[in-house]
Amino acid sequence: MGTNSPQIQLDLWQEPPPAAASVKPMTVLSYGLGADSTLVLIEMLRDPAGYGLEPDLSDLIVITATVGSEWRETVRLVEDHIFPLLRRHQVRYIQVARCGPYEADGWEILADSRSPQRFIPRGRWTLMDELSLNGTVVQAAGGNSCSLKYKGWPLDQWALAEFPDRPFRKVVGYHAREQKRARTYDGCQQEENLKARRTICTVEYPLIEQSWDRDIVEARLFTEFGFLWPKSYCTFCVYSGSCSARPAHMALARPP
Ligand code: SF4
Repeated sequence: MGTNSPQIQLDLWQEPPPAAASVKPMTVLSYGLGADSTLVLIEMLRDPAGYGLEPDLSDLIVITATVGSEWRETVRLVEDHIFPLLRRHQVRYIQVARCGPYEADGWEILADSRSPQRFIPRGRWTLMDELSLNGTVVQAAGGNSCSLKYKGWPLDQWALAEFPDRPFRKVVGYHAREQKRARTYDGCQQEENLKARRTICTVEYPLIEQSWDRDIVEARLFTEFGFLWPKSYCTFCVYSGSCSARPAHMALARPP
C-alpha cells in the first residue's frame, strides 16, 4: 500500500468543521499483540454491549502499529488465536507503520481487512533499520521515545486521516497498575486536542476501570487459551527485563 504524508494538525486560520454530534463515534482499540490488549479484545468480542459497541461490532476498529521486530512466537499466537476471531466477527483490522526516520517520510497502511490471515511483520522501514543506520541500540534514558516514534506517531497519523473532522473513542489496554501511565497518556491527548482545537478522541482504559492488574489479565487469558499469553515487545528491547520475566524472555529467545 502507498505512502501517506504527515497530517498537519494545527490550523490557526480555519475554523474546524462542526463535529457530527449525533453520529456515534467509532471505537478504535490499540492492539499491541500482547496480553493486556489481547484480553480487552476478546472481552469486546464476547460482550460488545458491555463495551458500548454495536452487536455486530461494525463500530469497532482494531489497529496495530508495526515496529518491525516482534517475536515470531507472539505473532504466531496472534495468527492462530486472534485472527480467526476477527475473521469470525468480521472486525476490521489494520496495521500501520512509519516509512522512514523522518516524519516527512510519511506512514503507510500495511493491512486493512475484515479477514486478516497473516501478520505483516514489517513495513518498508523499521526501528531496527534506524538503529543499524546509526550504529546504536535503543536507549533507556529519555523514556520510551522509540515507542512514541514507531507506535504512537503512525497510530496518530492514521487516526487523523481516518477521522479528520469527527471524534472517535480510543481504547487502550493499560492494566490496573498502570494508572500513572494512563494519566500521562491522557495529558498528552489533551494537548493534542487543544492543538487541533477539537476533540480528536476520548480515551478509555477498560482494564483500569475494572481494576484488572497484570496477574488478573494473565489468569483470565490462561483460562481462555490454556497458556500464558506473552507481552509484546521488540526482540532487542532495552526494557525486556520489565516486559517479560527472565524465563519467559529466554524461552522466546531460544531458537525453535
Ligand atoms: S518494545 Fe522496546 S524497543 Fe520496541 S518500541 Fe517499545 S520500547 Fe522501543
